[in-house]
Amino acid sequence: MAAEGAAMIGGGAQFSSGSAPGGCFDVAVVGSGIVGLGAAYAAVRRGLSVVVIERGARITGATIRNFGHLCIGAQTGEARGYADAARELWLRLARDAGFWLRESGTLIAARHDDEFRLIEAAAAGGGIRLLDAQELADAAPVAPGVAVGGGVIETDLQTDPRVAADRIAGFLAARGVEFRMRTSATGVSSGRVDTTRGSVSAGTVVVAVGHDIDQLLPHVADDAEVERCALDMMRVQAALPKPLGAPLLTGWSLVRYGRFARLPEAVFVREHLHRQRPDLAAIDLNQMYTQLPDGSLLLGDTHVRDSVASPFQSEDAQQAILDEASALFGIAAPRVIERWQGVYASAPRDFLRCELDPGVYALAVTTGIGMTCGLGFAEHVVAAATDISAPA
Ligand SMILES: Cc1cc2nc3c(=O)[nH]c(=O)nc-3n(C[C@H](O)[C@H](O)[C@H](O)COP(=O)(O)OP(=O)(O)OC[C@H]3O[C@@H](n4cnc5c(N)ncnc54)[C@H](O)[C@@H]3O)c2cc1C
Repeated sequence: MAAEGAAMIGGGAQFSSGSAPGGCFDVAVVGSGIVGLGAAYAAVRRGLSVVVIERGARITGATIRNFGHLCIGAQTGEARGYADAARELWLRLARDAGFWLRESGTLIAARHDDEFRLIEAAAAGGGIRLLDAQELADAAPVAPGVAVGGGVIETDLQTDPRVAADRIAGFLAARGVEFRMRTSATGVSSGRVDTTRGSVSAGTVVVAVGHDIDQLLPHVADDAEVERCALDMMRVQAALPKPLGAPLLTGWSLVRYGRFARLPEAVFVREHLHRQRPDLAAIDLNQMYTQLPDGSLLLGDTHVRDSVASPFQSEDAQQAILDEASALFGIAAPRVIERWQGVYASAPRDFLRCELDPGVYALAVTTGIGMTCGLGFAEHVVAAATDISAPA
């Protein structure tokens, strides 16, 4: 029987959350989202003892609220480096921890010539295959006549975020990582994490609390100009004309992801979309879709950046998401199964990384690509902090 307050996640692996304070570890990680899990994985692979301190009784942050879209080939620069590293880690974890992940690539539907020209320009860099209108119609369940063509980003992966995080945590627990759930960190300093259940000693401390960095380390969040970005999402049952074999992006996605957004052709796409649909521009829509193994479809998403996430979700925005899905797929209104809000940290730079005190690191992915880059980012930070190379 589980001890009082203990949490069962990760396929039955037990996580302590009861009375066991204290302890001495090589590495203490605060936060059990994908960045914290990535840091724990990086540390345990290096033979280090690891404790993960998590405020919740289960993993419920941005890491389980997203599309599960690992959009590696849409990144550029520093993000692409982390995304490439994360790709290898995702593949290995899916195999070792046993969760669903597919090497799906990403489909892009271009509904206007300027969107197609943008995909064409990005494809010149390699890793993106262009599709004409018929090829796109063969590959994706879009309504006839809606798209002029599109593309496939070949490197990309898809997972089910609700399952993957739990499985990774279970796998890490089985490898000796100690999870202290229902335990909030209240302060960090060299060699020490203070928590609501006593203090923990650790040679290296990694703070990976996502947008909650504005609460635990407000000065760090202020310096990096971190805001909270709140997103509306839903899961629906939709009568698609055929299964969606890969995440599906639209022009609204292209103007967000670095590889596309930085190209001169993106200016025309952005201008066109905003002129044609100011209502969707006003809710900062990223019109995209992923289909889960049970056939249900994830739809999203809207973006509101502020110092606090409003608890109130606009029904007009949610209706717009549903209407756009109906138009793109040529289907009747989907049946909504669930609605939720997700929040991630947002800042002018894509990654926040700083050493607060010797051996104490704060990290956050400060744009909506933490599932894509988080494992690689955490690996990079832990490798540098410990100066130990991971076994192959
Ligand atoms: C709706 C939505 C869709 C998205 N879609 C995608 C996508 O398709 N692809 C992609 O790459 N990215 C996507 N993202 C972004 C991605 O989900 C995030 O960047 C990523 O999950 C952030 O991970 P994290 O570990 O930093 O934060 P989180 O997952 O939020 O985890 C932080 C953890 O820290 C814990 N914590 C906070 N404070 C404390 C404390 N004081 N003590 C102990 N624990 C604490 C929290 O309880 C939480 O469990 C999306 C995000 C959202 C919200």
